Amino acid sequence: GGSGARRSISILGSTGSIGVNTLDVIAQLGGRDTFDLMAITGNSNIGLLARQAREFGARIAVTADEANYAALKEALAGTGIEAAAGRQALVEAASAEAGWVMAAIVGTAGLAPTLAAAARGADIALANKECLVSAGNLFVHAVKEGGGRLIPVDSEHSAIFQSLEDDQHHAVERIVLTASGGPFRTWSQEQMADVTVEVAKAHPNWSMGLKISIGSASMFNKALEMIEAKHLFDLKPEQIEVIVHPQSIIHSMVGYADGSVLAQLGSPDMRTAIGYALTYPDRPRLNVERLDFAKLARLDFEAPDEVRFPALRLARTALARGGVQGAVMNAAEEIAFDAFCAGRIGFLAMADVAEEVMEAMASHPAATAIEDVFEADAEARRRAAGIIARKEMAA
Ligand code: NAD
Ligand code: MG
Repeated sequence: GGSGARRSISILGSTGSIGVNTLDVIAQLGGRDTFDLMAITGNSNIGLLARQAREFGARIAVTADEANYAALKEALAGTGIEAAAGRQALVEAASAEAGWVMAAIVGTAGLAPTLAAAARGADIALANKECLVSAGNLFVHAVKEGGGRLIPVDSEHSAIFQSLEDDQHHAVERIVLTASGGPFRTWSQEQMADVTVEVAKAHPNWSMGLKISIGSASMFNKALEMIEAKHLFDLKPEQIEVIVHPQSIIHSMVGYADGSVLAQLGSPDMRTAIGYALTYPDRPRLNVERLDFAKLARLDFEAPDEVRFPALRLARTALARGGVQGAVMNAAEEIAFDAFCAGRIGFLAMADVAEEVMEAMASHPAATAIEDVFEADAEARRRAAGIIARKEMAA
């Protein structure tokens, strides 16, 4: 501060849950007086995208869907804010000169634009865990080549990042990812078998987008986070533990060689992790709820159940196999998630679809370039669609 120069930033996925929270943090830290917003991107919520662009003075607003171009252009008429649409426009917006880029598009759709920002050397605040699950080492390598920093936004990974001592990486024995257990923590498989999207998306602690809310209910989100942690912190699979902690107060922990465990705690509010990623290594003053320990009274822990929540077992398999298995698991599950949301398959079938595709592609060659990742992703989607069609015929 003090120089008067505004920080240039972009937000990929500004209209989502993370995007809206990011703009809330930006507003708390001075809004357009402090930040020069280069690009924001959305998909279908054009009204919100245009309002955000006007309020924060974005230079360009991009919708991923070309069908929404006319509506966006009209909503921004007379403002001087540029409107653009389509996948290529997303990649171009991500490539625009911004020192810091929030990567908060949901799913594999976020990979190409985030890679573009990384390759250009921006600091990447990474909410889109799918980048690391799908592209793993290739994504980490792209960030290194670009020369920017990779700062996790996922609350568990932010907690680990904050609990890692400088220069003590060699003394890290394990990391412990906490999981809320979601709305079905105590449910039997029979009870979960015919739940609807409405029931599954009601998360007990966090308010989030639809995909990650359903992923919390199935614990598929934790499966993604195990693989995300492996790549972010360069861990061996056996160093990654998961513990169910229903209150979501401890966001995750790092265990060291001397038996010490360092943890990061806070209210379940993504703005803390977003703020940390924005001002790292400083900590901004944020208007989020403070923990009241007397009121909390207790924190509970229980071992995760890989029988009721097979996604955790699938993550172990993907970690053990390496190669493109993360991309395969993620892509198959995205298709299964769409089918569940459309009422075509049941809640438990999502993991079955992912597992069947992973088995079929168990010896798929590892990726040496990003194109190999996209190719494996596409094959996994085709196979998942075939399995879902077969399940529907049998039902
Ligand atoms: P969301 O569904 O609320 O928002 C997703 C954003 O991506 C929106 O801006 C949407 O317009 C955009 N988008 C959707 N489809 C697109 C497409 N095909 N092409 C381009 N853009 C598209 O999701 P969210 O909950 O904000 O999650 C975003 C990412 O952050 C996910 O990877 C999620 O796993 C991760 N994350 C979210 C939270 C959370 O609290 N919501 C916590 C940790 C990690
Ligand atoms: Mg998380």
